[in-house]
Amino acid sequence: MLNWNTIDTVLFDMDGTVLDLHFDNYFWEEFVPARYAVLKGLSQQEASILLRSQYAGVKGTLDWYCLDFWSAQLALDIPALKEELRHKIALRPNALPFIMALRRQGKQVALVTNAHPDSLRLKMDHTGIAEHFDHRISSHDFGLAKENAGFWQALRQQFPYEPGRTLLIDDSLPVLHQARAEGIAHLRAIRQPDSQRDALPAQHSFAQIDDFADIMTGLVTCNEQGTTQG
Ligand SMILES: [Mg+2]
Repeated sequence: MLNWNTIDTVLFDMDGTVLDLHFDNYFWEEFVPARYAVLKGLSQQEASILLRSQYAGVKGTLDWYCLDFWSAQLALDIPALKEELRHKIALRPNALPFIMALRRQGKQVALVTNAHPDSLRLKMDHTGIAEHFDHRISSHDFGLAKENAGFWQALRQQFPYEPGRTLLIDDSLPVLHQARAEGIAHLRAIRQPDSQRDALPAQHSFAQIDDFADIMTGLVTCNEQGTTQG
């Protein structure tokens, strides 16, 4: 259970946390391989195998998240393909009510994503949620991915926050581990980042959020108690 009186900043990951990861999984695992297959005269299965090994080669680096890298690598216009599929971009349940409740309670709220700035722009544009964050940050501006050593310290120069009074919510375990190593005190994972796939198994390093409504209730109750006490 979170003690909201000890938290004044909440950092949200974007894909798989605020937004349904289904868009990204579908995009990279089905949509791009299909277009690549046509381009190269391969079967969909051959294209999938080829792409999977290319993805594995850069996972955990900024290139993995970089649309320019993949456009060059695959000779496909990746931003245009994302635009074509934008109708699949969707918020996770109760994400927006939770973010709005946090700001009503005076918390500083930021979106911190590994997504490329173009991807961030497309998703903000499609969902209309940009205005609900005090700040929106792409890790590309720092030349480091969120799971790379030094990212969370570097972030403080552009966006001042107190790690000991900060909650980070992110569906990536490597990101959560790195944030913990750099002093962020409160950390939560996501139980089911992709609505079309099974929930992730529970693990003991980080508590998982199933529905934002669950911790939102705690937030409101906590502040009401604070008011009653004086
Ligand atoms: Mg994520």
